[in-house]
Amino acid sequence: MPQRTALKEEKGKSKGRSDPWATPAMRQYRRFKEQHPGCVLLFRMGDFYELFDEDARLVAAAIGLTLTQRTTGIDMAGVPHHAIEGYLKKMIDAGFKVAVCDQLEDAALARGIVERGVTRVLTPGTLVDESLLDDGQPNRLIAVTTCDETALLAMVELSTGEVELTAVPLTQLAEEFARLEPAEIVVGDEDEDLATLAAAACRSVSRQPSWSFSTEEGLRVVTRTWSVSSVAGFGLADDDPLLAAAGGLLTYLAHTQGGSESLAHLAPPRRASSSSHVALDATTLRALEVEQTIRGDRNDGTLRSVLSRCSTAMGRRLLRNWLREPLAQRGPIEARHDAVDALLADATQRAHLLDGRVATCRLTPRDTRALGTSIAMIPTIREALPAEGLSAAAAALADHQAMLGPLAERILDQCVESPPAHLREGGLFRDGFDDRLDEARSLQRDAGSWLADYQATLAKDSGIASLKVGFNKVFGYYIEVTHAQAQKVPDSFVRKQTLKNAERYITPDLKDHEERVLGAQAAAIAREQELFADLCATIADRIEELGAVAAVIAEIDVLACFAEVAARYDYCRPAMVDEPVLVIEEGRHPVLDRLLAERFVPNGCMLDAHTLALITGPNMAGKSTYIRQLALLVLMAHAGCFVPAASATIGVVDRIFTRVGASDELHAGHSTFMVEMVETASILNNATPSSLVILDEIGRGTSTLDGLSLAWAVAEALARRGCRTFFATHYHELTDLADRHDTVMNLQVLVREHEGEIVFLHRIQGGSSDRSYGIHVARIAGVPADVVSRANELLATLSVQTDAPGHAPVLPQGDLFATPHPIVQRLAGLDLEGMTPLEAFDVLRDLVDSAR
Ligand code: ADP
Repeated sequence: MPQRTALKEEKGKSKGRSDPWATPAMRQYRRFKEQHPGCVLLFRMGDFYELFDEDARLVAAAIGLTLTQRTTGIDMAGVPHHAIEGYLKKMIDAGFKVAVCDQLEDAALARGIVERGVTRVLTPGTLVDESLLDDGQPNRLIAVTTCDETALLAMVELSTGEVELTAVPLTQLAEEFARLEPAEIVVGDEDEDLATLAAAACRSVSRQPSWSFSTEEGLRVVTRTWSVSSVAGFGLADDDPLLAAAGGLLTYLAHTQGGSESLAHLAPPRRASSSSHVALDATTLRALEVEQTIRGDRNDGTLRSVLSRCSTAMGRRLLRNWLREPLAQRGPIEARHDAVDALLADATQRAHLLDGRVATCRLTPRDTRALGTSIAMIPTIREALPAEGLSAAAAALADHQAMLGPLAERILDQCVESPPAHLREGGLFRDGFDDRLDEARSLQRDAGSWLADYQATLAKDSGIASLKVGFNKVFGYYIEVTHAQAQKVPDSFVRKQTLKNAERYITPDLKDHEERVLGAQAAAIAREQELFADLCATIADRIEELGAVAAVIAEIDVLACFAEVAARYDYCRPAMVDEPVLVIEEGRHPVLDRLLAERFVPNGCMLDAHTLALITGPNMAGKSTYIRQLALLVLMAHAGCFVPAASATIGVVDRIFTRVGASDELHAGHSTFMVEMVETASILNNATPSSLVILDEIGRGTSTLDGLSLAWAVAEALARRGCRTFFATHYHELTDLADRHDTVMNLQVLVREHEGEIVFLHRIQGGSSDRSYGIHVARIAGVPADVVSRANELLATLSVQTDAPGHAPVLPQGDLFATPHPIVQRLAGLDLEGMTPLEAFDVLRDLVDSAR
């Protein structure tokens, strides 16, 4: 059981007994605390990391630690040192920034105050440890500043070292944050507006001196970080405003990562160009359930869950990026398709890649041994690659292997197979390759057998058979004898401590021994630390190659995963073309295809001469499924994946917009109709002739006539714009558009009526359907039979009457209708065609209630 060290044990020579903050340890604590503003400080004391004062209160409340005051009156909360990683994760997840202050020397050997130092600063956006990162989630740190009406962003994913710069209109910044999901945002300390915006998008907002967000400072740190004389090679001018964001980012990183040398592994900054990726906004990602279902499930029922067969965490992260940022240029898309094709050809080879080979290649810089094993895997992975399709990846691996081979050999030679988590207790290096280490270790080992002999001799000489020689960190070596035997203890034993049922002693021999052992142990650890520092320096020299290999491996992992999915689920390679067409045969919705398997009815589409398709059909027929399926297929193809279809010809898109009826989603605090219109406005403002637009039930959130007029105007505008559009609607009136515009066509979802029942066929074909089957849906929803049959009777009469030109509907006679009853009046005013089943059901329930 680890012991907590009381503050007074490190009081040293303090005179200020009345003020607990005046002890040397606490003065040391305060110094580190001041050096790391904005961080909570974990302060190592003995076997615990302690938090003090406000830090203790905040963290204890957030992650559930016990708060104590011990004897000093200062609030404290502690975590045992061996469990630190788990607590760090909880603290980071709760949005804290954490500075970890370690003991830099063995407390047992320290004279006076133990030497300490901050060894790590962890912030949500600067994590690189696999153990602290959520699998498959990107971990973006974004620094943001403004120039006139433009927001300038510099972002980094530290685990891969990728740095991107981008500018968006200030009005779109909130949406950009939502899309990028940063783990942490850095803003200037004078930029209150930006800080507020950032705080709405992300739990962790850090402030950084505003001077670092200037173009000049950016130019200085960018040229220094990447050792270049000009930034022109990065596609930047010397006075590019984006440099201001880069300046803020790099300055913050240098501060948290322990100096600018630690930035050496960052890849040169890339300008995120909108023409290279398909723009997907947050609403589209949500509506298409790319990585989260509308109900909020993150695992099942998403596109990512269907596709994710990667073997590495890096691969899973990359897959997520590829799905969120599909490619928008034919060349790069086809290169990915070529690679998938090549990997598809040989199932055994692919199985090799997926099962283990790539999986063991975990390039975690902290774990040197794993690094060695990983590098040693490169040739095996390279051999498993197909001869064609991935030649660039294979060549990159070959190059890097030549550079890294000797490093791997050295690591495997020198490091033990299962190294300890920390170097504190030593044990990373093997025996036999370093004389100084061997010598110190053999002293320690001899000490062990000396101790056993010594205990045996003492027991024999004193006649105390139960006598034990033990060790603890506070008192060092001791001889323990039970009270019952204490009178037998010889004079040479000096009493040191009295326990409940035993006494502890020390002897001069044992003291001597202690000094020898501790000396040898310290020498061994110190030597290991030297060796480790040396090895780290060699690794650091190769960091660029290591990063590049990791990126290639992640890419191979995702491509192999695409090939595996294509083989397993029978996907086809889409033909990518430049013309704005979309021709799909026997397409399937990737998620429902898995869930419903054989029962899923495939559907195609043929958008060629036409650009806008209006889809009508009864509720529950499959309209939403069909249009989302088309968007998903287009997205998958652009991400480099094959698609669930018999064949597909897809014109490259620049953006995909998907809007589903607002009432399908929960929007806290907003009028659903307002949300729907804001989203529609964004489509009308941003869709280009190369875009794909998916609209489901636009206009539903307002009165029928308003809704119809809006839906009509929106459809016309999109038809004129010429972007490929699929528009599912229950407004049958819209189908008239096909007669007026050459580019509009009608599609319907087929249903069959059989003995008064309707059967959903889920099959799409040309033409428009003219009935909404609302009453049928009311029946299957459980509305009582008499109400349903009455509704059918009314419907029949109403249709007959309304079909007669120039006549207002005449209601049938009957008791209920003898005088103009309020229910009758209400029925007369209903527009069944224009109602969703739920709305119809609500009205029916009202009517039934008032009839009772
Ligand atoms: P709508 O938008 O017309 O109201 P949905 O697209 O929501 O209908 O589909 C309703 C249900 O029908 C879905 O939940 C799904 O289970 C089923 N469905 C839709 N399309 C198909 C299909 N092609 N094959 C099999 N079942 C389907």
